[in-house]
Amino acid sequence: MEVITRFAPSPTGHLHLGHAFSALTAWHRARQAGGRFLLRLEDIDPTRCRPDFATAILEDLAWLGLDWDGEVRVQSAHLPEYRAVLDGLATRGLVYPCFCTRADIAREVAGSAAAPHAPDGAPLYPGTCRRLSADERATRIAAGQPFALRLDMARALAAVPGELTVFEEAEGERRCDPARFGDAVLARKDAPASYHLCVTHDDALQGVTLVTRGEDLRLATDLHRLLQALMGWPVPCYAHHHLLTDAAGRRLAKRDRAATLRELRADGVSPAQVRAPAGVPDQM
Ligand code: GLU
Repeated sequence: MEVITRFAPSPTGHLHLGHAFSALTAWHRARQAGGRFLLRLEDIDPTRCRPDFATAILEDLAWLGLDWDGEVRVQSAHLPEYRAVLDGLATRGLVYPCFCTRADIAREVAGSAAAPHAPDGAPLYPGTCRRLSADERATRIAAGQPFALRLDMARALAAVPGELTVFEEAEGERRCDPARFGDAVLARKDAPASYHLCVTHDDALQGVTLVTRGEDLRLATDLHRLLQALMGWPVPCYAHHHLLTDAAGRRLAKRDRAATLRELRADGVSPAQVRAPAGVPDQM
């Protein structure tokens, strides 16, 4: 089977060494296997993504010596595709509109002593809008009240009987537990579709066979696996790698200017010096 990997950054800042490691890993795995390496810009969130960061990402990757196969897929140019998935899930009764604000949810969960949280840190949604009648929903939508779309987790799990597993390269087959996300948001009030929906859709559409990414997204895979099962999408193999940290052991973030590829380049660091620690030789 042809190996197809991808690097899928969100243009919310400049690439840092952690991204470089991720991109180099995906690129190297594809090139080693004579496969394909894809580049995708996950710019679905208009509140955080910027075109100048997107341009900078392409420049930085080219500086690193990475080439990608085919066109860059830019998610914001494909909104109708994500909308079609959401519509399909809605027809099956697997998503519902949620009108709650963050404050509403905080107020609701404040009452419960140890409110459970999803792996992404958000409090588990208490299900307020899941219990609205069809009439109430229609009235609020007609009144122009903004809403998100949430997955009805219980119904979604019931729609995919049997155990969900993924193959993690480092550990083998592992069991997924998407329930810990609760009724996850699949479309926000201010963003047309969520990261979870778009990344899973695109990996399937683009035929990605090996997803390499940081271990901060390991648990998100459980939700992605559920979406794959609901939609009948193929399931890639996963390789979650460790995250790079600074000298103080803190995870690198886009706000750490010192570690950005731009800053390193300005300081005279060469692409080879970035590639070597990632185990990727200068010439391939
Ligand atoms: N767009 C995501 C990010 O920049 C990564 C998606 C993925 O690799 O699955 O964090």
